[in-house]
Amino acid sequence: MDSPATLAVLDRAEILCRARGVRLTAQRRRVLAILCDSPRPLGAYEILDTMREGSRPLAPPTVYRALDFLLEQGLVHKLVSLHAFVGCNHPEHPHSSQFLICNACGEVTEIEDEAIDRSLGSAASVSGFRPQRRVVEVIGTCAGCSQKGR
Ligand SMILES: [Zn+2]
Ligand SMILES: [Zn+2]
Repeated sequence: MDSPATLAVLDRAEILCRARGVRLTAQRRRVLAILCDSPRPLGAYEILDTMREGSRPLAPPTVYRALDFLLEQGLVHKLVSLHAFVGCNHPEHPHSSQFLICNACGEVTEIEDEAIDRSLGSAASVSGFRPQRRVVEVIGTCAGCSQKGR
């Protein structure tokens, strides 16, 4: 059962896809819902396991194709260091991937700092490098876990 927060994300995704002329198929929608319902990032196989429950087994490429679509549309992000995926909080505008990852509780927080983007952009151009994707993943301890550890 999808929570109200998840339903709100799905509604927004539906509107975005319609405006862009792409199709949020039932399977793509299901993958997005699973990621939104999860309190932590999920790997492709965990998504596959969840989708298996109650219905016939799916082939892994089905999930990978759905994830590719959701990534392309900016509806989810890939966390490279965790080999996992999370739903995006603000898919309306294109942005790079910036995350704070707590290695104690696994909490993942998306941040959006344009200064980081700008300085990465200028550092790259100094080297004559043309970036395709920018991924910033900061591993450490979240505020809650820091407090507990004190
Ligand atoms: Zn995002
Ligand atoms: Zn934590």
